[in-house]
Parts: sequence; C-alpha cells; structure tokens
Amino acid sequence: MTEILATAATTPKIGFVSLGCPKALTDSELILTQLSAEGYQTSKTFEGADLVIVNTCGFIDDAVKESLDTIGEALSANGRVIVTGCLGAKTAADGGNLVREVHPKVLAVTGPHATQEVMDAVHAHVPKPHDPFIDLVPPAGIKLTPRHYAYLKISEGCNHRCSFCIIPSMRGDLVSRPVGDVLKEARALFEGGVKELLVVSQDTSAYGVDVKYRTGFWDGKPVRTRMLDLVEQLGRIAEPYGAWVRLHYVYPYPHVDEIIPLMAQGRVLPYLDVPFQHSHPDVLKRMKRPASGERNLERIARWRELCPQIVIRSTFIAGFPGETEAEFEHLLEFMQEAQIDRAGCFAYSPVDGATANQLANPVPDALREERRARFMAVAEAVSAAKLQQKVGATMQVLVDQASALGRKGGVARSYADAPEIDGTVQLLPPSKASKTYKVGDFVRARIVGTRGHDLVAEVV
Ligand code: SF4
Repeated sequence: MTEILATAATTPKIGFVSLGCPKALTDSELILTQLSAEGYQTSKTFEGADLVIVNTCGFIDDAVKESLDTIGEALSANGRVIVTGCLGAKTAADGGNLVREVHPKVLAVTGPHATQEVMDAVHAHVPKPHDPFIDLVPPAGIKLTPRHYAYLKISEGCNHRCSFCIIPSMRGDLVSRPVGDVLKEARALFEGGVKELLVVSQDTSAYGVDVKYRTGFWDGKPVRTRMLDLVEQLGRIAEPYGAWVRLHYVYPYPHVDEIIPLMAQGRVLPYLDVPFQHSHPDVLKRMKRPASGERNLERIARWRELCPQIVIRSTFIAGFPGETEAEFEHLLEFMQEAQIDRAGCFAYSPVDGATANQLANPVPDALREERRARFMAVAEAVSAAKLQQKVGATMQVLVDQASALGRKGGVARSYADAPEIDGTVQLLPPSKASKTYKVGDFVRARIVGTRGHDLVAEVV
C-alpha cells in the first residue's frame, strides 16, 4: 500500500512516497532529513502538499508498474511531482528516460542516491523557508524504520555484472562511503535509541575495494576502509549501548572468514546473509556471480566450526536459463548439506534489460515454479528442524510489538531473525502481571515451541 509520510502541517509542505528496498529507504531518510533540516514540512496527503517526491524502485516489472502508477496518482492529485530512485535512471526502448516518456509532466527526474539533485529540484519549485528549524532535527536524522532498528548503508553501486541483475546499470559501480562517516552515523543512530543496526549495500564484502582500502579516520585514530575493520569498529561502538549489529549481502569470499571470530566473541551478531543464488558451478558461471569459484560447502563448514551458533540466510533462484534437472538436483543436495538456516527462493523472472534474457534454453514457466516449490519443501524441512532444536533454550530477544506493555503478549526477534525477512519469536502473555516490556526492549525468553516459521516463547 502507498503511504504518504507525514509530520506537522505548516507551509511549505512536501508529500513523500518511499517505494523499494532498504537501500532506497536510506535514500528516502537522507532526503527527508535534509528537507526537515531546511524547514520544510511533510504532508499527509498529495492534495495538501506544495509538491510531491516519489522515490521509486525499478528492479522487477511489478515494482516498475507500482512506481509508475504512484507517479500517475501523485500527478493527478497534486500536479507537481519530482521523481527519484532506481526507476528514474531507467531508459525506455528508444533510449529516452522511461519516467519522462510515461509521465511527461513530472517536474524533475533523478536516479538513486541523489539527495542534492532532489533538493535542487525542490528549491527550484518550492523555495526554501526563511528560518530553517535546524535544531529540531534529531542528530540521527529522520528514520523511516521503527525507532529501535535502522539500516546503515555503507556503499552504493556494484562492480559485478550478474547476468540477471540490472542494478549496476541503474546505480553504477561500487562507491564506498568514507569509513569515518559510516562510523559517525552508526554512533549517532545508537545515541538516538537504535538497538539494532542492519548493515546494507549491494556487496558488503567488497567494502573499500574502490578506494583500495584507503585509511580513514575515526575518533582520531586511523581505520582502513575494509569490511573487517568496519565490522570490528561497529562492534566496539555498539557495545556500550548493548546493541546488535547484523550483516547483510555478504559474498562468500575467503576474507569473510576473518569476521567469524568476531561473531563467536559476540561482538556482532552470529548471522550472515549470503545470497548464494545457486550451487552448481556452471549455473553460477552463467549467472556471472561473484565468488562463484569458491568452495561454498567447505566455507560454510569452516564458519560453523569457528562459530557453532552462526545462522546463515540466503536466497536462491530456481529455473535460471539453461538449468538442467541435474543442475537443479545439485542445488537441492547443496541445500540439504549446507543446512541453510533461512532460505528464500525465487522462480527465475526475466528482468527487462538483463543479459540473462539472451541465454539459451530458457526453462518453461511452469517448470521454474515447480522447481521453486521443490526447493522450498527441502528448505522448509531444514528450517523446521533447526527451529525445533531451539525449543528449551533461553535467549535474548528484541521486542518489536508489545500489547498492553507485554501483558497480552508481544512479538520479538532473536539474533537469528532479521526484521521483515525472517521469522519472529511470539511472546506469550506472562504468568506474572509484573513482567512488562515495551517495543525496543531486550528481554530474555525461554523457547517453548514453534509455530510455522516462528518460535513461541515465554519471558523469563
Ligand atoms: S552482486 Fe550481482 S546481483 Fe548483486 S547488485 Fe551486483 S550485479 Fe546485482
């Protein structure tokens, strides 16, 4: 559902719609923070705004349609619309700008990660208020996630050219944020009450490659722009706040082994989101995946040896062009052997502009779906057995929802559950009414059972 983000209602007012992935969400946060810093207000409705900004997603066809429809709605309700985000960078079949061709009345179009361009367009159409309320902006900026967790984007773009993906053509090559800036933002987020930091990028393990792991500065000390150094520092910054640091989009390069001891020591969460996509070397080659030549089963075994409690999340594609039954069975065996704790699977879907569309022997639609279902049956059995092993354990969980201060129960997550993509820990109403908790609290919970992808627990 499209939701207009809002604060108080005085002029000048900007309507803002944020679509797309967590990386797009961080772009939205940067733009909203800047708008607020300059004294603009946000409007609850298209009609009540002086101008509307739509942050779009252009990754799959459904997302393109949703973005174009939202721009259309904003144009008919308001008439003054600025478009930013991935779809803004997309070209139409004749080489022109896709958004401009469909909606020629938009005031301005930018690609992703373009706060300054968006602000320039806003200034051109709705002049800056005279007395900016700079002091009213919290030091951590404006956040779109609940107050207790936040995404931290460490880089933009990607140096790989996976054949099913068009992100590099929309977002460009890897550009790592300066390590000092990233760490400063992390500390501001913890100071602002964030209990869980989710590190995101297109390829977290490649952090710093573009700047040759240059040495930056943090707290007056040199720190290299490198995944290991970044993760070490994030763990240090999080410690006094008792906060969690969770890593997403990590590729299985050998140097990732270096961060596993930090997980074993509890410096960062023992959770790795590694998008393997497939296991068969020929399919990985056709996908042009990073780290496709690595021995992933051995690597996973080594990670589990170094940190037995590690939880591995991954996504896979079934029915990639040319995938044979034998290659698919290789994937099923990999899933079984690797015992991936949390696995998602998509049936291959050709994205407009992706080079994989030209590959020989596309798999028929129905077979792609059938393979996805077969994969998920294996994945769900692995995951259910893993959840069952947790029954009886006591663990720290972070509360996401609490009814009547937890007296009617609540919903929380353990280190094994990233928000929105993994399961949850369903908290039962406590037997003693004195046991209360609120959203954003860490509590200890004893696991008493499972329910689908979730655990059921009582607060202890
Ligand atoms: S690593 Fe591959 S899938 Fe991920 S953003 Fe880069 S090109 Fe796309």
